[in-house]
Amino acid sequence: MQARLARLHGQGDLRVEVVDVAEPGDGEVLLRMAAGGICGSDLHYYQDGGFGPVRVREPIVPGHEASGHIAAFGPNVSGLALGDLVAVNPSQPCGNCRFCREGLAIHCLNMQFMGSAMRVPHAQGMFRDWLVVPAIQCMPAGTLVGAGEAACAEPLAVCLHAVAQAGDIRGKHVLVTGAGPIGALVVAAVRHAGAGTIVVTDLADAALERASACGATRVINVRRDPEQLAAYDADKGQFDIVFECSAAEPALRSAIATVRPRGLIVQVGVTGDITFPLNALVGKELRLIGSQRFDSEFPLAVGLIADRRIDVRPIISHTFPVDQAVDAFEQASDRSAACKVQLSFLA
Ligand code: ZN
Repeated sequence: MQARLARLHGQGDLRVEVVDVAEPGDGEVLLRMAAGGICGSDLHYYQDGGFGPVRVREPIVPGHEASGHIAAFGPNVSGLALGDLVAVNPSQPCGNCRFCREGLAIHCLNMQFMGSAMRVPHAQGMFRDWLVVPAIQCMPAGTLVGAGEAACAEPLAVCLHAVAQAGDIRGKHVLVTGAGPIGALVVAAVRHAGAGTIVVTDLADAALERASACGATRVINVRRDPEQLAAYDADKGQFDIVFECSAAEPALRSAIATVRPRGLIVQVGVTGDITFPLNALVGKELRLIGSQRFDSEFPLAVGLIADRRIDVRPIISHTFPVDQAVDAFEQASDRSAACKVQLSFLA
């Protein structure tokens, strides 16, 4: 049997190719893939050949946000049925290293994260129409939601992990800077967690409309109306918690200015080196913590999507058949119109 896949051979060189598909082995399943979302990191691989120290050094199949249907089993698989829609957890920690043994699999020294160029050889990803994968990475997504929604489990898991860094946020005043796919899903996650107010900033109205659909109580276009955000500087800052999802230096500066003394800033967006006012961090006794990927939040995300306790549909802006993968990546590059762009493998 043969499969189509989208493979990146270098910066700007994405090709749809045909390869042979293996039989599922012990503990594995064969998935008929259905949907796969393009993430910012996939886009950086395509546009820039990588980000920071992570470079595409050999051909890589991108894609770490995907869903599919169970098409066949290898030996020794239980708990899954033929035809089940599943979200695929792309995270493959080793289970044996120092951090895995400490219960910190997220920091595994030998992490294989599907579709990541962080390690060499690169971990191959899921932009393909057939995939053989360990059954343990497949989480059933029920029958209510579509494959595109199920494929949002991975980015939602990232957001649930970020929100978990903040502890109990019921009734808290929250600022989310940056309303791309992650910012919008952080909004959905903090709303689900019971935040009191959720103010969201971005430079694009289309992104802010999606944030509203995800549960923002107020949105501010900081390109057009920067004074509306600056008003939250009053009395040493108004927000209890900021989720910084833009990785833009001005956004981090505004986070530091608008968060209250002893408040918390969770840095979710990633970029290269930037500067920020250390004096304000010290003077306001702020906590600034990073959050990356997810751990136990993946099955939680699948469950929340499966019964639409968190409705991820507002973030899915475009869907392209896999044969148009290049068009999909180009569309995803246009932030004025695109949020989550997905590939469909069923066409
Ligand atoms: Zn490990």
